[in-house]
Amino acid sequence: MVFEGLADKLQGALKKLKSKGKLTEKDVKEAMREVKLALLEADVNFKVVKDFINKVKERAVGAEVMESLTPGQHVIKIVNEELTALMGTTQSKLTFSSKPPTVYMLVGLQGAGKTTTGGKLGGYLKKMGKRPLLVAGDIYRPAAIKQLQVVGQQLDIPVFSMGDKVNPVNIAKAGIEHAKQHGNDVVIIDTAGRLHIDENLMDELENIKAEVNPQEILLVVDAMTGQDAVNVAESFNDKLGIDGVILTKLDGDTRGGAALSVRAVTKKPIKFAGMGEKLSDLEPFHPDRMASRILG
Ligand code: GDP
Repeated sequence: MVFEGLADKLQGALKKLKSKGKLTEKDVKEAMREVKLALLEADVNFKVVKDFINKVKERAVGAEVMESLTPGQHVIKIVNEELTALMGTTQSKLTFSSKPPTVYMLVGLQGAGKTTTGGKLGGYLKKMGKRPLLVAGDIYRPAAIKQLQVVGQQLDIPVFSMGDKVNPVNIAKAGIEHAKQHGNDVVIIDTAGRLHIDENLMDELENIKAEVNPQEILLVVDAMTGQDAVNVAESFNDKLGIDGVILTKLDGDTRGGAALSVRAVTKKPIKFAGMGEKLSDLEPFHPDRMASRILG
């Protein structure tokens, strides 16, 4: 299950409220203290936790709740609604360009799952009836091109590559030209990652962005890295301006911090969640379903 530890703790804290007939302000405060600790332990950004708790408290000690016949249920409903809001309220879908091909640029640190996610996204779009082309723009990581080709083969999706001696900006441009000539209506550009954010990387990504003017820049981040993932997202967003986030490895024993803070910190939506290593393990991100999964 996703966020097992967090779910257990939150459910534990809220269960006590459920069993009470009437609630006092003290009951709510105590429960919120436990909720706060659970969120901090799950590596949710401190400021996000503070705002979240204040919002819930403000609503939960209102007359409507305290005087209702099932105040505990009421508070749980509020927590559910605020968790959903934290993650973006509604599903944020991919947008398509009115003039094909639609170009998506995938960016992120090395190891985040960019190449795999490029394939997964291609497979997802193919299922939607699109004709995607994968473009191998990561010329620095040994084996990245080959990896994308293998992924493409598995999904029966074409992969455009010019080897590792051509500038990625030119590869991206040529890839889009190739798509136009071959009737591919979506182009997914895999870009280079680094172990850490550095200026060379950002310069290169900015150059690609300027040249190809992508419909969306999608940042791939590893949910297992918790607050680091949120910091990475903030940096990429500040420097490059991203359109959405794809959180990978939500199937692992992630604590949940990234999923719960990245939207609040960057104001950019989480569009998809990677739920495993298989190429079919990509799901559109639904904030309401995720909140319900966490609260059981
Ligand atoms: P890149 O360096 O960002 O291109 O990362 P890769 O695509 O090579 O992925 C790095 C590792 O993460 C690989 O072993 C992938 O199989 C794995 N991976 C990617 N996405 C997921 C996911 O959603 N869940 C799990 N469990 N593993 C993933």
